[in-house]
Amino acid sequence: MALRPASSSDLLIDGKLVPGSAGTFDIVNPATEEIIGQAADATAADMDTAIAAARRAFDTTDWSRDHAFRARCLRQLRDALLAHADELRALATEEVGCPTFLTSGPQFEGPVNDLGYFADLAENFTWTEDLGEAKPMGLKNHREIRREAVGVVGAITPWNFPHQINFAKIGPALAAGCTVVLKPAPDTPWAAALVGKVIAEETDFPPGVVNIVTSSDHSVGAQLSTDPRVDIVSFTGSTATGKKVMAAASESLKKVFLELGGKSAFIVLDDADLKSACAMAAFAVVTHAGQGCAITTRLLVPREKLDEAIAATRDAMAGLPASDPTDAGTICGPLISATQLERVEGYIALAKEEGGTIETGGGRPADKDKGFFIEPTLISGLDNSARVAREEIFGPVLVIIAHDGDDDAIRIANDSPYGLSGMVYGTDEDRITKVVNGVRTGTMGVNGGIWYAADVPFGGYKQSGIGREMGVAGFEEYLETKAVARPA
Ligand code: NAD
Repeated sequence: MALRPASSSDLLIDGKLVPGSAGTFDIVNPATEEIIGQAADATAADMDTAIAAARRAFDTTDWSRDHAFRARCLRQLRDALLAHADELRALATEEVGCPTFLTSGPQFEGPVNDLGYFADLAENFTWTEDLGEAKPMGLKNHREIRREAVGVVGAITPWNFPHQINFAKIGPALAAGCTVVLKPAPDTPWAAALVGKVIAEETDFPPGVVNIVTSSDHSVGAQLSTDPRVDIVSFTGSTATGKKVMAAASESLKKVFLELGGKSAFIVLDDADLKSACAMAAFAVVTHAGQGCAITTRLLVPREKLDEAIAATRDAMAGLPASDPTDAGTICGPLISATQLERVEGYIALAKEEGGTIETGGGRPADKDKGFFIEPTLISGLDNSARVAREEIFGPVLVIIAHDGDDDAIRIANDSPYGLSGMVYGTDEDRITKVVNGVRTGTMGVNGGIWYAADVPFGGYKQSGIGREMGVAGFEEYLETKAVARPA
């Protein structure tokens, strides 16, 4: 059975697929600028109903206590989605503009398979820990620690890796026993809405456990931060919006979990193979047109090798042009929208105003008259104080900066409001370890190492976020801790 809606996708509220009370909104293919379909447009009242359903499902059913049932539902969802893999992969490329090669990884199959990891956690987690006896105030007591689901999760997600981020929230949240209201980004509503259709029609999730509310209006999602019936807001998006979510959530003092922006550094030490390091840095920044929060967007190279590094990076980037995302060989697809294109073009103009040199790229590809494409762009001639070296651009734009040795490279990497990720290339293990220890970020790769996996916690230091997603740490974000004591 095909999932693609004949007209608009629906909302999933309290187990039912329903239209949005505000009608529908268009979804645009970023590679062609064609309208591919519509999504249900929810109102504040729809969101209110969804929150009520999630609250009821949490408070009045066994969902949070039946670990085996939750594991079964998660595996059922994984298998049902994999049965639709061909269609969902194609739709991801159409809606998100992501290169096809990524759909067998983080843009579809990776996160869907990760549901199995979270199902295993639900089954195997140590929910109760016996602390044995103690004599507080002279009275013998037996104590235990119980882990319990936090409650209702308000999940708010962005457009760049919609399946990955949606499942990195609903997977652990549901495995932990929470109920969820997911509010995806307006640019990529189908990635979530079609999962809602599969949940409603092909799984045993009880009504209200998962609710999916698409909306063109950011303020509908903002209700999740303020509504006292929501126990935790799990947000991924820009740092600016994350600050608003945290401020709004403070009113009802709910938990906040934030995955935010980044400006990660790719550090090349002077004993590294410069050419392969620069090739990897180029590949990283053009992948999905640089629209990844953890992508390394500052390339720090030894000052004495700067010219050589510029040439190697320029050649590598020029060999990875912005292309049709449906081509199997494409690494760099389009940006998501006209707004993002304008934003990236604005940053390239700013780099020139700041005195930077555009080594390659800098404009829209000559062979494209449609689609939100921008050429992979390398900027030199600036130091780390330039705005293009400090602010998140979210495009295939790399700033190359000279460093004066390992300590200086660590200093520059840390001279950022962000602390999400990073990479170091080198040969000497002690020097690599010093860099890994010195850089204040939530993840670090060494010589091309890939940390992305279901069991690896991901998240940021500093203004890149609060908390960790994925892994046991990501699962525990959705748990409370209860201490119980009785006279022994
Ligand atoms: P965004 O902050 O504009 O929007 C993210 C989500 O928040 C969307 O669903 C949007 O509708 C919603 N939203 C907007 N205003 C809101 C408000 N006041 N209250 C509640 N929700 C609101 O981000 P974006 O442009 O969609 O995504 C790009 C950003 O996301 C980049 O900054 C990127 O670094 C970040 N990101 C971070 C991670 C991570 O894990 N650290 C992953 C992916 C993307």
